[in-house]
Amino acid sequence: MKASIQLPGLAHRASRLGTETAFDTLAEVNRLRAQGKDIISFGIGEPDFETPENIVAAAKAALDDGLTRYAPSNGVPELRAAIAKEVAATRGIAVEPDQVVVAPGAKPFILYSIATLVNEGEEVVYPNPGFPIYESVVRWLGAKPVPMPLVEDNDFGCDRDVLASAVTDRTKLIILNSPNNPTGGVLSPEDLEFIADLALRHNCWVLSDEVYSHLVFDGGFASIASVRDMQERTIIMDSFSKSYAMTGWRLGYGVMNAELARLMARIETNVESCTCSFTQAAGIEALTGPQDESRRFAAEFRRRADLTVELLNEIEGIRCVPPHGAFYAFPNVTAACRRLGLTRAEQLAEGLLHEAGVAVLARSCFGSRNNGETQEYVRLSFATSEDTIREGIGRIKRYVEAAR
Ligand code: PLP
Repeated sequence: MKASIQLPGLAHRASRLGTETAFDTLAEVNRLRAQGKDIISFGIGEPDFETPENIVAAAKAALDDGLTRYAPSNGVPELRAAIAKEVAATRGIAVEPDQVVVAPGAKPFILYSIATLVNEGEEVVYPNPGFPIYESVVRWLGAKPVPMPLVEDNDFGCDRDVLASAVTDRTKLIILNSPNNPTGGVLSPEDLEFIADLALRHNCWVLSDEVYSHLVFDGGFASIASVRDMQERTIIMDSFSKSYAMTGWRLGYGVMNAELARLMARIETNVESCTCSFTQAAGIEALTGPQDESRRFAAEFRRRADLTVELLNEIEGIRCVPPHGAFYAFPNVTAACRRLGLTRAEQLAEGLLHEAGVAVLARSCFGSRNNGETQEYVRLSFATSEDTIREGIGRIKRYVEAAR
């Protein structure tokens, strides 16, 4: 930009928008690979599987049939009906198609929900470490983020005392994410009862990010929307990205009371107009067609979770509690950092990438440190092949243990 040109200033909110640094690491990995470096990536959280063939075929057929025009903002009726049926069956609640909004991914519901439900200055309780977009959007819209710390001692589940002090009459919205990114922690039915009680007592909305609902390793998936009196005040967000290996298709949905559904569809009219028509045809096939591939993905992630944890725990200076869902391991690397003369997980991630050829994400990619948090963590996405997991963790072991 020429120095002589004077441009008007930006909106104040522009500087408050955060980001998802996983995408920066992905760009760095691609840059290093383009230079010929051999990099193993545990960075980005997306399945390494191909989208199942029947789903791809449905999208191709939709294009051949001329499904290339605008669709209704809230989604095509047949897809909304299929989603209503799926969510009713998996959460044990009654869902009508007019309670469903289809969007380009689950992610838009973070913005739609906060914009629809929370005024400037009101508080939003969200998991930390957690998906960074929650805090980013809360700040962007001028609301106040209140972290709900997830701690290793508690298997990264819910610390009820801490949560009870975070949720107050100032809280407008509680964001939940179970199974959790980045920790793999899962909320138990008892946790959900406890949180529901808080939400009812303090009259809060709940945004339940359930994008890993298909990936629970022990026992079934439980949603807060299934807890008595909670469905009306809960927005469920779920997606095709992780369960059907469709991250790039951009297809997700929200389920909520019909009035909220109308308001969120109106945001979509203002921003995107609609979700891509032929992608929605693929979504109908995903939900109504054979489920064997999706089940195979879930079983495979479970096996990889066991392998990843076992290999990480064999490294001196690394300790990893087993995740209960999703496809992430979140090991404690405090002793490994110390061994290497480092003080922070970011330095370890940097060293692993440039000196050992392995990409991981430091804890700081998932929010700032909670009060009193002293340990260092990194996240590994094990949505990659068993051979890659063995080779990548082998590199980490050699790198960490070479230091004395
Ligand atoms: N929520 C969580 C917790 C995630 O980890 C992700 C993706 O990584 C998303 C939402 C976004 O999912 P989608 O691809 O459906 O927008």
